[in-house]
Amino acid sequence: MDLPFEPYRIKVVERIQRVSRRERFAHLETAGYNVFKIPSEAIYVDLLTDSGTSAMSDQQWAAMMTGDEAYACSRSFEIFEQSVRSLFGFQHIIPTHQGRAAEGLLFAVAVRPGDVVPNNIHFDTTRANVEHVGGIAIDCVCDEGLEPALEAPFKGNMSLEKLDAAFVKYGRERIPLVMLTITNNSGGGQPVSVANVREVSEYCRERGVPLIFDACRFAENAWFVQQRESAYADRSVADIAREIFAFGDGCTMSAKKDGLVNIGGFLCLNDEALASEVTNLLILREGFPTYGGLAGRDLAAIAQGLREVTDPEYLSYRIGQVARLGRRLDELGVPILRPTGGHAVYIDARATLPHIPQREFPAQVFTAALYLESGVRAVEIGSLMFEHRDPDTGEPAFPAMELVRLAVPRRVYTHTQLDYVAEGCARVAHLGDRLHGLEIVWQPPALRHFTAALRPLAGGELVAQA
Ligand SMILES: *Cc1c(COP(=O)(O)O)cnc(C)c1O
Repeated sequence: MDLPFEPYRIKVVERIQRVSRRERFAHLETAGYNVFKIPSEAIYVDLLTDSGTSAMSDQQWAAMMTGDEAYACSRSFEIFEQSVRSLFGFQHIIPTHQGRAAEGLLFAVAVRPGDVVPNNIHFDTTRANVEHVGGIAIDCVCDEGLEPALEAPFKGNMSLEKLDAAFVKYGRERIPLVMLTITNNSGGGQPVSVANVREVSEYCRERGVPLIFDACRFAENAWFVQQRESAYADRSVADIAREIFAFGDGCTMSAKKDGLVNIGGFLCLNDEALASEVTNLLILREGFPTYGGLAGRDLAAIAQGLREVTDPEYLSYRIGQVARLGRRLDELGVPILRPTGGHAVYIDARATLPHIPQREFPAQVFTAALYLESGVRAVEIGSLMFEHRDPDTGEPAFPAMELVRLAVPRRVYTHTQLDYVAEGCARVAHLGDRLHGLEIVWQPPALRHFTAALRPLAGGELVAQA
């Protein structure tokens, strides 16, 4: 079925408006060719991120009215804790204001300078938080996961060889924990199989190293497992999620993704001593352990969101909508990372703009041109976002892939709007070598893609006149 059926109807709408190409050009110039700095009113379809951009359900809005705003031991926390525990199963559940706060707390306590954290692929905030405490973030995704054109069911899987190589190279004592990101956002939203989770878990347990999930899109990952891993075809998504988490020792979570809310996150841990150290820091930085930087109503909305997100009708619509966008792009000849992921379609910018070298940010060029030509906001996941240094030589190193991510907010856009996005992407792809590279004019010390200013190279234009 080409039109995934919406398992809901619309009760509230929000007006969006279109701005002219001339206005978009002015916005792009002012923003230093960085779409993070363009006002939301000037965006037609916003696929910058699926984070915190979900439409909440009537049940979630109703739950918000029941929020108990007591400072300590609120009823909303109890409900939140029950909802999280029923799926995640971990001992200690620590609310935070979003995912990176959970990462920051965990690494502040568990990672020492010089320590090494392996992951399939670190998300940008995860890498930055590891590096912030002096750690080294290592990506160990399987080789398949680095080949954009290759069709494979579980391209998020971790390579046991690469993981083992990290242990051999750095030694067990320098590896305080191993992470596994489900789904693997920076590698194309690709799922990790339960078989791989089991292998990684066994490897870690043999060495006494905790396995921590970056669980932001756990429901989408579990849905892929149900669809693609034959042993799980008859199991419910919630059940699969429980089985996955049982292989780990904790997780970081951004509820802004599969929590179906606009703000929130949490950290789960089984280890009592670690949890208590984290909680001490939580009180200092986020808040009392039963609200951790959130209002009672936010906790209530997360509790309800977690109940909705494992609904198979919702997931097949959600992932079907993303897949459909991928098929449209494919039909229009735009090279995409295969197969489409759970939350986003990723355009392969190296394949689309082979004339622009990585040091001239081909994926950022595509992203800027897409805004200019169609008012659609995507995000670069390439050499602007991942300013790599080789951990041994300190030399600049480019990421394996240059991607433009079209992240689809949950329950927000219609098929018609996404068809418009596909057409906009095709127009940009067909500009070909009329598109010029970019250079950085200004950048901050970390996470530069959020605020860096760029300009077209050699004082030229982003799009040369035909
Ligand atoms: C979004 C995200 C995070 C960080 O969560 P925030 O709520 O944005 O701080 C961490 N890891 C992954 C895989 C993510 O997608």
